[in-house]
Amino acid sequence: MTIDDLQTLIEKMYSDKDRRRGTPATFLWLCEEVGELAGALREGTHAQKCSEFADVVAWLVTLANVNDVNLTQALEEKYGKGCPGCGKLVCSCDSKP
Ligand SMILES: [Zn+2]
Repeated sequence: MTIDDLQTLIEKMYSDKDRRRGTPATFLWLCEEVGELAGALREGTHAQKCSEFADVVAWLVTLANVNDVNLTQALEEKYGKGCPGCGKLVCSCDSKP
């Protein structure tokens, strides 16, 4: 499954509900899922980590749909030619803490 496949699938399954909910409430759901991922990373099983990663990506895709953002296009534009900072495929930006 590509990001584009997922975005299309999420649009098909949930678009009416997602657009009614709107950006602020959808963003809160994403934040909640990020919190659940934090918990799984700290003390979850591998299966729980997998599930929470899936939820975070699904809610990020949902938020993109609600805002008419094509994630594949956005990713290609930003990262498709390498690091947005130095432009190289193997980043050579200074590592700062
Ligand atoms: Zn770089």
